[in-house]
Amino acid sequence: MSHDSNNTIWQIFNLINLAVIAYDNKTHHYTLNQHAKTLLNINSDDAVSNDVFNNITLRDFNDDTLITIEQLFSSNITAVLLECEFSPQLLNVNHSIVNDSVSMITLEQDRTLTEQYNFDQIISKISTKLIDIQNDNIDQQINFALKAIGTVLKADRSYLFEFNTDNETITNTHEWVNTGIIACKDRLQNVPKVELPYFFEIMNESHLFQVNDIEQLPTKADAEKAEFKEQNIQSVLCIGLRFDEELVGFIGCDCVKTKRNWSKIDLIRIKLVGEIINNALKNINYKKKLQLTQQQLINANIKLNKLANTDALTNIANRRFFDATLKSEIKRCARHNQPVSLIICDIDFFKRYNDNYGHQKGDDALKQVASALSSLCKREGDLAARYGGEEFAIILPFTGLEQCEHFTTLIQQKIKSLKIAHDYSSVSNKLTISIGYTTCLVTKASTSETLIKVADKALYLAKDSGRNKACTFEE
Ligand code: GH3
Ligand code: MG
Ligand code: MG
Repeated sequence: MSHDSNNTIWQIFNLINLAVIAYDNKTHHYTLNQHAKTLLNINSDDAVSNDVFNNITLRDFNDDTLITIEQLFSSNITAVLLECEFSPQLLNVNHSIVNDSVSMITLEQDRTLTEQYNFDQIISKISTKLIDIQNDNIDQQINFALKAIGTVLKADRSYLFEFNTDNETITNTHEWVNTGIIACKDRLQNVPKVELPYFFEIMNESHLFQVNDIEQLPTKADAEKAEFKEQNIQSVLCIGLRFDEELVGFIGCDCVKTKRNWSKIDLIRIKLVGEIINNALKNINYKKKLQLTQQQLINANIKLNKLANTDALTNIANRRFFDATLKSEIKRCARHNQPVSLIICDIDFFKRYNDNYGHQKGDDALKQVASALSSLCKREGDLAARYGGEEFAIILPFTGLEQCEHFTTLIQQKIKSLKIAHDYSSVSNKLTISIGYTTCLVTKASTSETLIKVADKALYLAKDSGRNKACTFEE
């Protein structure tokens, strides 16, 4: 072929909407028509060598392996994927031999396949992100999914509506709008279902609402028509979301600028996205329920624990909690080489009090004494407990004998200040208590039993020597 006729051919190639690349294996140069240059983003009017393709990523569409333009010439691959950051393209490849040294390939973009490929990519991205979604980023992912389906279906708006717990109203929770389209979300909060009777009749029945042209809606859909017109909608496609067979919301797309005849593929695609969103919402819902149940269990446990450790009548610690606390405080004081004090108080002539004033009054007196003792335990670690019927015990960790003695004085003052009349007591006309106390510089060998025994002996001493007094016991 002459140089001139070559030129003419390339001028023609430049006019066609097909990428053409010729390779001369004598000069090792490539010639590209205009479309090929645009497609591969190459700016050169001359023949080019291999290295201009360095930034191009091509993959064999069938087995996903990387391939260079040079390899493409010597292969019989029929489809390649040209990777770009935002829109990878699927190209059908045709090989032809021009003469001994020159061979040629044409690359033709396959729009349907490219679109399908891109949609598959989006779907796999959405489902990966939504599969183990946490509550805090679900909104972002749903917005992404809506944008994806809106773009793929060439819609102007896409949205998610969820039914409110009253099941009477619906709320537009997420929305994507194309540029230049007015958002409707804020206006569509808590919309009564009865305002869209035709829509819900169809939706409840088939979980699908598909309108290519709203002008074609029947007269019984006048309410819907008015609403769609208000939003300038020409075509609508919605599919229902279900939890356990029950309709709980829907996702949909609107076309505002132009009408769209929704295709079977559109339907399949929106269903797929709907399914993914539905599953993500279900997951979140289960997680929320689980968290709620867990919290209720924790609260119940805390309550139960408190109940198990509290005396029902006086509301202060019970014997069980006292025993456990005394053991642990002994250990703590031993570790710190510190003394622990134990006080046991017993109400004087309480049987007489009960017998004369009645059991109810007796209970009231016990409550008053308990809360008085408890109010004196101000330091962290101090504990007042109901030890027996009309007996109370107080643990004072990190407390020496002198401080303990001072504490017993405070107890007696406090009980005195209650001024509970007890006309049947032999020591006073007011309710009094006797106190036995002990202080011990505990060691690891110290036991709560010995401490209690000594405090008990001290209490016996106080009772024996006239009551309404505090005594300690020394062996
Ligand atoms: P002492 O001065 O020697 O301690 O004599 P006392 O009468 O206080 O001692 P005693 O052990 O003989 O009687 C204790 C009384 O405490 C007997 C019982 O009726 C009463 N009591 C124990 N638990 C309760 C209670 O929960 N409510 C009421 N109202 N009384 C109780
Ligand atoms: Mg007693
Ligand atoms: Mg008593």
